[in-house]
Amino acid sequence: MPLSPSLFRPRTLDEALDILAGTPDARPISGGASLVAMMNAGLVEPAALVSLTRIPELSGIRVAAGGNILVGAATRHSVIAAEAAFTGTASVLPHAASQIAGVAVRNMGTIGGAVAHADPGLDFPPALCAVDARVQLAAKSGRRTLPVRDFFADWYTTALEPGEIVTGFEIPKPKSGAGFYLKHARVAGDFAIVSIALSLADDGEVRVAVGGCGPTPLVADEADRLLSAGLSAETACRAGEVLIALANPVDDVRGTAEYRKLLIPRMLARAVREITATRKKVA
Ligand SMILES: Cc1cc2nc3c(=O)[nH]c(=O)nc-3n(C[C@H](O)[C@H](O)[C@H](O)COP(=O)(O)OP(=O)(O)OC[C@H]3O[C@@H](n4cnc5c(N)ncnc54)[C@H](O)[C@@H]3O)c2cc1C
Repeated sequence: MPLSPSLFRPRTLDEALDILAGTPDARPISGGASLVAMMNAGLVEPAALVSLTRIPELSGIRVAAGGNILVGAATRHSVIAAEAAFTGTASVLPHAASQIAGVAVRNMGTIGGAVAHADPGLDFPPALCAVDARVQLAAKSGRRTLPVRDFFADWYTTALEPGEIVTGFEIPKPKSGAGFYLKHARVAGDFAIVSIALSLADDGEVRVAVGGCGPTPLVADEADRLLSAGLSAETACRAGEVLIALANPVDDVRGTAEYRKLLIPRMLARAVREITATRKKVA
């Protein structure tokens, strides 16, 4: 019978980092939505849990002086889904957040926990790539930031070092435009089989990221360039081919690798139609 882990509930980031550095086999816990499920399944047995949800610096959303949006790592999915600051191109974030699981998980899970967990079926990783977010990290040795596109390394593997935690995200000042998140799942609220995160600025700049089709979100400058040259069924098809070439999905209970690849250009074309229609309605 495994022993229950010790639970620490620090009130400051420094305290949390001290505990993580000084306690063998300690793990951060945020919402617990994924970690507790993994512990219940016997997949991980941490000796200690360091809760990050009582540290004020890690929670909430604020707009910085230059217009960038700062999101604390312990901010719940439901808070992001309802946040009015995510306008224009950044609206892909609340659109993705509103499609995560059901209300209970959205009230429990946090954006930092999701990104650290790095399950390829999660909704935030592609949405954060589509807005060119930067992830903020802290360890006892200091702080650093990375483009989120460089943060995901492999299946359930990120650039996080031992003892390091995700503290937040910096979302570039939203441009006037639109964001759209298209998720294909077996039933509403399930993990994505394939997802498409798209942002379209009124100046024509497009960013696309695909979830569920490999260990990390699929992003390609060439796909962004093709779509930025003009949104149409044809450019969606060509950008889709670029993204398929990067895909490395697996067969699982949700769908085969072949099915996932087939979905990429089809879903991208649909996302392009939807985002274009949204822009026409607004104009
Ligand atoms: C039934 C169910 C359905 C779900 N459906 C979806 C879905 O449709 N779409 C979707 O995107 N997600 C889904 N999820 C996952 C959900 O979004 C989780 O909230 C998320 O994966 C983890 O967030 P958390 O805050 O609960 O992290 P936790 O479970 O607390 O932690 C997850 C992992 O990240 C580490 N960690 C936590 N916070 C940090 C941090 N700040 N820095 C460094 N490491 C950290 C932990 O040590 C652990 O390894 C679902 C979960 C459940 C239980």
